[in-house]
Amino acid sequence: MANISLRHVCKTFHNGVVAVRDCTLEAAEGEFLVVAGPEGSGKSTLFRLIAGLETPTEGDIYIGGVVVNQLFPQQRDIAMVLPNHVLYPELTVKENLAFRLKMHRMPEAEVERHVQEVAGLLQIDPLLDRKPGALTSMQQQMVMLARAMVQGHKVLLLDEPFVHLDEKLRAQMGKELRELHKRLGITILYATKDQAEAVALGDRIAVMKEGFIQQAGAPEELYASPANQFVAGFLGNPPMNFLNVKVGADGSDYTFTFGKSAVRMPQGWDETGVLKSYVGKNVVLGVRPKDVHDDPAFVEKMEKGVVNAEVEVMESVGGESYLYLTCSGHSITAGVDADAMRQSGEQIQIAFDMEKIKLFDSDTEHTIWR
Ligand code: ADP
Ligand code: MG
Repeated sequence: MANISLRHVCKTFHNGVVAVRDCTLEAAEGEFLVVAGPEGSGKSTLFRLIAGLETPTEGDIYIGGVVVNQLFPQQRDIAMVLPNHVLYPELTVKENLAFRLKMHRMPEAEVERHVQEVAGLLQIDPLLDRKPGALTSMQQQMVMLARAMVQGHKVLLLDEPFVHLDEKLRAQMGKELRELHKRLGITILYATKDQAEAVALGDRIAVMKEGFIQQAGAPEELYASPANQFVAGFLGNPPMNFLNVKVGADGSDYTFTFGKSAVRMPQGWDETGVLKSYVGKNVVLGVRPKDVHDDPAFVEKMEKGVVNAEVEVMESVGGESYLYLTCSGHSITAGVDADAMRQSGEQIQIAFDMEKIKLFDSDTEHTIWR
């Protein structure tokens, strides 16, 4: 077990691609940290740097308080699982676990000790004499984890380990992994493109885009206080609505105009006064579908957030209903009550919960309000 600390780590490949930029990140001992970001955002490169399969162009990597930049992968006591890893079908589970240790000429007795230890930890002892073909997919995944862990298990790096599993199995494996993490107290770093998986698994999430860590924090924290528009849009499904609005000042309100529609909020809500400098300019207004309401009681109460909209479609999935709306040429998704039956083409009034909106700078995409 160990903590991981990255200080200003950069990786530029020979072809000039900057895969990781100025990455500073801590994973506490025993933490389950999810690195989440779209394809190509640098997750795998970051993991390969930690594992020692790549060398940083700049910066330092610490494992358990020690700089490991100069250490070979096998000296780092790290287990790594990749999605393309497969078990050798003709070998038993035990032989699969022992394979790489034997390749590294580890003495027989020591191999046996390592294999038994990890099999015990992952509770797969009863499977040791079976071949992979005689295992369920879940058991195969556990054996895959075990095989990585026999080579060292201070830290477990899991790079999209279950992408090839269907959604149900993936959720089940996620649950197993959380339990394993709790039981063993091991430090886990887990890479995924899937925001829902990130939220379900992580004690904390580090959101990556274009090689840069946009924000790291507890899932609730990132959801409630995203540092920028990217993080705001990445977490949550359906994603946050974004509207390009023009900021105005009218009496004691700020107005946010898009097309023929406008919403307002009291200037007094802007404690820092940051919005003053945006009057007359465009900003991005973000509002989550769950904060767009169509029930008359809310619409009446939140008069500053009311706009007219046309229903495109109503969709219900898994007990949740969504209205896909157009409003002055802008698309807006609203999470609504399932019993609010709406027809396509219907003209309705909706209200944004103005206390929940976010405002982002149009150029930097940084959060400027809330
Ligand atoms: P992710 O795992 O988030 O999909 P990667 O770390 O695999 O992202 O890739 C980040 C960027 O680095 C991508 O643009 C990718 O094409 C590039 N890249 C990855 N590995 C190499 C390499 N060995 N040589 C050159 N470019 C690479
Ligand atoms: Mg990857």
